[in-house]
Amino acid sequence: MKEGAARTPVVAVDLGGTWLRVAAFDEAGEMGRTVRVPTPAANGPAPVVEAICDLATEAAQGGRPRLVIGVPGPVDPAKGVVHGAPNLPGWKEVALRELIQERLGWECRVEHDAGLAALGEHRRGAGRGSTNFAYVTVSTGIGAGLILGRRLYRGSQGTAGEFGHVVVEPDGPRCRCGNRGCLEAVASGTAIAERAGMASGADVSRAAAAGDPNAQEVLDRAADHLGRALGGLLNLLNLDAVALGGGVFNSGPKFWERMVEAVAQGSFPGPRRHARLAPAELRGDAGLLGAYELAQGDWAAD
Ligand SMILES: [Zn+2]
Repeated sequence: MKEGAARTPVVAVDLGGTWLRVAAFDEAGEMGRTVRVPTPAANGPAPVVEAICDLATEAAQGGRPRLVIGVPGPVDPAKGVVHGAPNLPGWKEVALRELIQERLGWECRVEHDAGLAALGEHRRGAGRGSTNFAYVTVSTGIGAGLILGRRLYRGSQGTAGEFGHVVVEPDGPRCRCGNRGCLEAVASGTAIAERAGMASGADVSRAAAAGDPNAQEVLDRAADHLGRALGGLLNLLNLDAVALGGGVFNSGPKFWERMVEAVAQGSFPGPRRHARLAPAELRGDAGLLGAYELAQGDWAAD
């Protein structure tokens, strides 16, 4: 986009399994107040669509912005169809864009939330200035968004970025996707808590910091798997930068150091030295900011 060019007003929606967040951006690109309500997820897509339309209408204040919706699962961005979302019961092949456009009549795009978060971090956060970039999030689940050649990469069917379902322990625990030993099943916050027999990943970090050897072993194992898988990603894509977000990275400097060592075990020296590994910068707003950036880019082709 040219310097000083008028920007398109945007309403961004972050549809999560727990919270539905909506923010309006003005013509200067400034994000207004974010409105957050619990996602009415229990009864399938209809109440969720209604809530999105109501909140977006309120945020738009009578305008006709571009609407970008980030959803927690793979989508067909060309058709605006949500293939499925594990945290949204009853969502299977939902024509979300069509349902929204019928109600609002606005231009609308539907994207995987990990991709939008990657776009946000690339344009405004830890990936600024890079050409080839990945955003990896490790919290209750593990996901990734890819920016290749400065553009959001979605893959052939919109399912690219499922980094959490790379199998790292073929005989490991069953993953919620049905396979065994996925990275998510051994290194997510949920997996770390289960393996240590504690209520949450944060509890495991606290116990490890207090000297609990079992908690430390579980964290070490997660860091090893995560690092080696990231090393594989660097070998595969020769990235300039990787931003790492999500609660598991708050597990202390030891976790980070061990993970970086494992990256070294899992990658060639060239791509490893070239890639900048850094904490994500935008926290919970990455997806909303990415939604805004998507609407400013080549809307038709992006
Ligand atoms: Zn899996």
